[in-house]
Amino acid sequence: MATSEKPLPIPSQETLPFWEGTKAGELFFQRCRACRRFRFYPRALCPYCLSGEADWVPSTGRGTVYSFTICHRPASEAFAAMVPYVVALIDMEEGVRLMSTIVGCELEAVRIGMPVEVLFEPVSDTITLYQFRPAN
Ligand SMILES: [Zn+2]
Repeated sequence: MATSEKPLPIPSQETLPFWEGTKAGELFFQRCRACRRFRFYPRALCPYCLSGEADWVPSTGRGTVYSFTICHRPASEAFAAMVPYVVALIDMEEGVRLMSTIVGCELEAVRIGMPVEVLFEPVSDTITLYQFRPAN
């Protein structure tokens, strides 16, 4: 991989349903069958009760900004063309927190607590990444 290429996720047995979901235009989160709590990132065992039984449930795709930073210096050469960009922690309605970027607004408009919604960006034949934008 050339240093100018962005690293892409490599789906595993545990994460494949998640990436199949983004490719289909939906976020899916695992929900434990025993304690009913959502979890993210995808994993075999529930971090709350250690049950191995879970279902993949579609997300509303909506959340709020928990925190964010504006990156003026790229993490690597692969991200140089993107700067400046926002890296944010998003609290989803399902109760999970994930990291993503926020697009579709001025960088200075991003605020903690801002409602956001997911959108999808196909980047290869198999991988579609997720981003967020201000919710309507
Ligand atoms: Zn559980």
